[in-house]
Amino acid sequence: MKVCIVGGGLGALRSAEALVNNGFAGHIQVVSDEIHMPYNRPPLSKEAISGSLTVADLEFKRKASTENVEWVLGDRAVSSDFSQRSVTLASGKKLEWDGLVIATGIRPLRLNLPHLPGRFAVRTFEDSLGLRKAIAAAQHVVIVGAGFIGCEVAATCAKMQKHTTVIGRHDLPMLKSLGHDLAADLKQRHMAHEVNFRSGVEIVDIQGQGQIESVTLSDGTELRCDVLVEAIGSEPNCEWLSDNNLDLTDGVMVNSAMVVDHEAPVVAVGDIARYVHGYFDPRPRRVEHWNLPTDTAKRAGKSLVQLVQGEVVDATRVDFLPAFWSDQYDMNIQAYGLPGLANRTELVQGSWGENLIVEYRRDDFLVGVIGINSIPQLMPYRQHFVKALKEFSAST
Ligand code: FAD
Repeated sequence: MKVCIVGGGLGALRSAEALVNNGFAGHIQVVSDEIHMPYNRPPLSKEAISGSLTVADLEFKRKASTENVEWVLGDRAVSSDFSQRSVTLASGKKLEWDGLVIATGIRPLRLNLPHLPGRFAVRTFEDSLGLRKAIAAAQHVVIVGAGFIGCEVAATCAKMQKHTTVIGRHDLPMLKSLGHDLAADLKQRHMAHEVNFRSGVEIVDIQGQGQIESVTLSDGTELRCDVLVEAIGSEPNCEWLSDNNLDLTDGVMVNSAMVVDHEAPVVAVGDIARYVHGYFDPRPRRVEHWNLPTDTAKRAGKSLVQLVQGEVVDATRVDFLPAFWSDQYDMNIQAYGLPGLANRTELVQGSWGENLIVEYRRDDFLVGVIGINSIPQLMPYRQHFVKALKEFSAST
């Protein structure tokens, strides 16, 4: 028996562990287009840019239980045939499997601008290393995109005393995730660190002699720019799955056992998986938060072992609690639930500009909570969600 895991990030590693934990005794092969063993991405937009972290510092500890896993690094899945149970790699190798884990995550969207050195996105260690070197030598950094990654890079650059400008779609940063009031508060905190914000404009051109030197905005303004960071969102790495008649609308659709709707035994985990977070909302969605590759892989591993052994998959519903954090300056922003679904928010502890907790409700239903430097005070909320999710899962 052989399981092939395609993708080499946290979701892949946790899937290998889950397969072994659920009694899979066959061969596990992990294919990644990166040359590194699975490593932690959150520091890539933070201390990996300003500090001297190596990829070895970021690698996840591997458990003894996964020592027999075969790692095929630096090769890319280019196609798959579920009916033949095979995956073809860029090198031409064809891998056969009895079960497949889809763990290929997402990649950053890029701006449609001329190629010039000095343009960066942040997804891989190499991206972050390139950015580290470029920012060290830069004075003016322009960041397009005011979401998580854009804001984290802005905070990192501002702390490094770089002249930092963030160009966002909206007037307020992280608006979709934080809601109006907390986003307005976050903007003030960034502005106190001399980050400039621009909105309602796009970059229409870039200039430079062999290296980016300035960008032209759609209102005609020209900004000095030694480094351009593009943090405008992401798209799932699903092209290699396109021949199998799957629902690939924004990721890979799976059921609550993380199983793909196909006769072949296939599961999907992590950032690429799209599924219903039923307690919060009936619409399936992908959630790009660090805790979900682990949670989804635990479930997917169990399901895949049952599938390859010809058993009925345990259909008991399990709802995962989405949770994210973001570190910016001296702030730890911690969230539980899906605050982006709220239609009203309330500051319930602390005050704006200080440590605080904001509750997020859709009408009267608590859909999320976000705290700044308030992890212990958030624990009752976390417990509330864990209990509510369990009860919800049991009742459906
Ligand atoms: P990935 O980690 O993206 O792994 C997918 C792997 O598959 C990659 O190695 C990729 O190269 C490989 N791959 C892709 N296509 C193919 C192919 N065709 N063949 C073979 N291999 C392929 N979350 C938080 O909650 N808090 C944070 O502060 C935070 N900060 C972040 C900062 C950055 C810069 C980034 C990029 C993410 C951050 N996240 C954060 C999100 C978190 O890191 C992700 O949710 C998590 O890494 C997703 O894991 P994954 O295994 O699903 O995908």
